[in-house]
Amino acid sequence: MHVISTHAYSNHMGFVPDMILHNSLLNMYVKCGRLDDARKVFDRMPERDVCSWTVVISGYAKQGPADEAMMLFQDMQGENLEANQFTFASLLSACASSASLDRGMEIHEHILRQGFHSDIVLATALIDMYTKCASIDNARKLFDKIDQHDKVSCNAMIAGYSQNGLVGEAFKLFHKMPQRDVFSWTSMIAGFALNGFVDDALKLFDKMPQRTVVSWNAMIAGLAQNGQVDKALHLFEQMPKRDAYSWTAMIAGYAQNGFVWEAYKLFEEMPQRQMVSWNSMLSGFAQNGLVEEALKLFQEMPQRDLVSWNAMIAGYAQNGHGEETLELFKQMELAGVRPDSKTFVAVLPVCANLAALGQGMEIHDKIKKSGLQSDILVTNALIDMYSKCGSIEKARRLFDKMHQPDVVSWTAMIAGYAMHGCVKEALKLFEEMNHTRISPNHVTLVSVLSACSHAGLVDEGYQYFTSMSDNYHIIPTIEHYRCMVDLLGRAGKLDEAKNFIDEMPIKPDAAVWSCLLGACRIHNNIELGKWVAEHVLKLEPNNAASYVLLSNMYAAAGRWGDVEKLRKKMKDKDIKKTPGCSWIEVDKTVHTFLVGNRSHPQFQKIYSELQRLSLEIKLAGYVPDTRFVLNDVKEEEKEHILWNHSEKLAIAFGLLNTPPGTTIRVIKNLRVCGDCHSAIKFISKIVSREIILRDVNHYHHFKDGRCSCGDYW
Ligand code: ZN
Ligand code: ZN
Repeated sequence: MHVISTHAYSNHMGFVPDMILHNSLLNMYVKCGRLDDARKVFDRMPERDVCSWTVVISGYAKQGPADEAMMLFQDMQGENLEANQFTFASLLSACASSASLDRGMEIHEHILRQGFHSDIVLATALIDMYTKCASIDNARKLFDKIDQHDKVSCNAMIAGYSQNGLVGEAFKLFHKMPQRDVFSWTSMIAGFALNGFVDDALKLFDKMPQRTVVSWNAMIAGLAQNGQVDKALHLFEQMPKRDAYSWTAMIAGYAQNGFVWEAYKLFEEMPQRQMVSWNSMLSGFAQNGLVEEALKLFQEMPQRDLVSWNAMIAGYAQNGHGEETLELFKQMELAGVRPDSKTFVAVLPVCANLAALGQGMEIHDKIKKSGLQSDILVTNALIDMYSKCGSIEKARRLFDKMHQPDVVSWTAMIAGYAMHGCVKEALKLFEEMNHTRISPNHVTLVSVLSACSHAGLVDEGYQYFTSMSDNYHIIPTIEHYRCMVDLLGRAGKLDEAKNFIDEMPIKPDAAVWSCLLGACRIHNNIELGKWVAEHVLKLEPNNAASYVLLSNMYAAAGRWGDVEKLRKKMKDKDIKKTPGCSWIEVDKTVHTFLVGNRSHPQFQKIYSELQRLSLEIKLAGYVPDTRFVLNDVKEEEKEHILWNHSEKLAIAFGLLNTPPGTTIRVIKNLRVCGDCHSAIKFISKIVSREIILRDVNHYHHFKDGRCSCGDYW
């Protein structure tokens, strides 16, 4: 309050405060975390000196976006002002927090040019920057050049080594230090614990000449991170004096190891809760899938910061509450909290799952505005979002713009192509990847195999599969075996697929058998299908999908007696068929359609549109495929039931509510049925629209009467 009134007063009195007053105003705003207000003052200042620039730059360095700090530095140079040590230190910490090595090196050059060679504070900040950007060699070079190592630079180097997995080097340095302070000990203990050497950490902790509360906390957190909660609790109880961080370390430790209610007990006992304790309890609930409890805490919190919002958003997103995630994201913005890369990385997969392209693009705009478009985690999430929303070209454009795509970026792009049946592009990109220094991981190979499977490339698939361990040192997992069964099965080599399963070195799971079952359905092999279904049901007795597949096969062959038997079995065992459900995003709102749903406000319009479409496509040659109706009812009724399928409802709604020519994007929770597949092919031609349907297994890209899956799914 005080800050605001000073500002108001000076304006009201009609005199222009001088630079010193302005600078202290800037300082206060930044310290209160009100960067936006600071920026407003800064932008209006008639004259600015190094201090003014440095205050605002340090604000962005601490509170983000870090890119903004760098932009300001460029502007500052345009005004011919020379940065001082404090400016540089802030810029380095901005580079460290955003892991921007290129920029960090740029700042390093400026520092040398301005003659701050021997400044020990800057040297330490540089070491810190290099280690956080995973450039440990540069850090070491710099460290070796320092004439007289003080404790601070040694401690920074110890922490740097530990963060980069070089705990042996860290310990060597620790050992050599002539004088160690409590930070040296603590950062060595944390380093051991971080790298899994918790016993060494404990040994050091016992030897420590003087322990502060920080060293106790580091040890407790280290034990808990390594799964030794009992020992952590023992230390926690022994502590001479605990602060909020000790409680929080213990709460987080319990929650990380799945003892979420023990964590909550401690949280309730805690004498003075601080924001960090609320946040760690909140993410504890969220990570253990207790979303309602997390929400309750989130609402009860006296104050919320970015960490709290991120924890709640990630909790919703990871537990399948897509629409709630997007809603909370909106509320976060209304509350004036600026999202960071963690927020975006949590929200984008939700757009991907809901095929909510409109909202995904809106978020992309926000990412550009917040200067995070070069963050690799964010870019990877964007590539994944665009390709899952069926906009593979946009994904590719982002990928091509990346300076240094990592294995996740390559994999996301290859997977995107594979999903959409762009097999040539997928395999071409994989070959390109082989010419870089990035090695594929097991997820990349899953995408490559599934691309081969899409196109029926049996020989190529076999080759990739058998060369995996030699070429890339990847031992095939159950997922790769499943891809191979899928590849053989789709290509009609059912017996080969069966033998392949028999010879697997690992035990086949229900998913592997389900793949073969799907292939049996495509190739109408009822007898093998029956036998395979038994295997699935042995492993997963309540697997409704395999009952449905089997019953589809019987129905297609007109074996209604067998269909009836299956239905009775399902009823006796109380196995519920998942009702079909489809989603479509129109005007940034996701609409949900259940099979036969008549509760939608536009349902009359939707049904008359479907009637119109059914007449038109019949004229174009569509024949309703009533084999996909399980009930043994009259032909006309069967046809009527088919037109109730959720994907047809969603598509009709999309056609009615989007301008001509717009691509329609629909997601379905189950496998698309053969009749819908054939009807949508005709519809795409008659209305001249691209229709992208993502079902539980595949992407179907309908265009001009054809589907990208080549009628195999
Ligand atoms: Zn259908
Ligand atoms: Zn298809």
